[in-house]
Amino acid sequence: MSQPNGAQAAPRCNHEDKVVTSTTTLVRFRCGSCDAANLTRINECVKCKRKLCARCKDSAGQGGTASGTAGN
Ligand SMILES: [Zn+2]
Ligand SMILES: [Zn+2]
Repeated sequence: MSQPNGAQAAPRCNHEDKVVTSTTTLVRFRCGSCDAANLTRINECVKCKRKLCARCKDSAGQGGTASGTAGN
């Protein structure tokens, strides 16, 4: 039997990130990748709810067409 879709059934999320900002000092986020804590801003996927800090999201490099690092 041939399997046109492959045997792997890993659910792949396209990760629709939404920036969540803490509005109170009582709420802090934690990155699900690097485990950085006490974050006041985090990117949360609206689909799978995975949380990613700005740094990890940056290094994930989704469709990275950003041209290098612009001097700040
Ligand atoms: Zn996701
Ligand atoms: Zn992180």
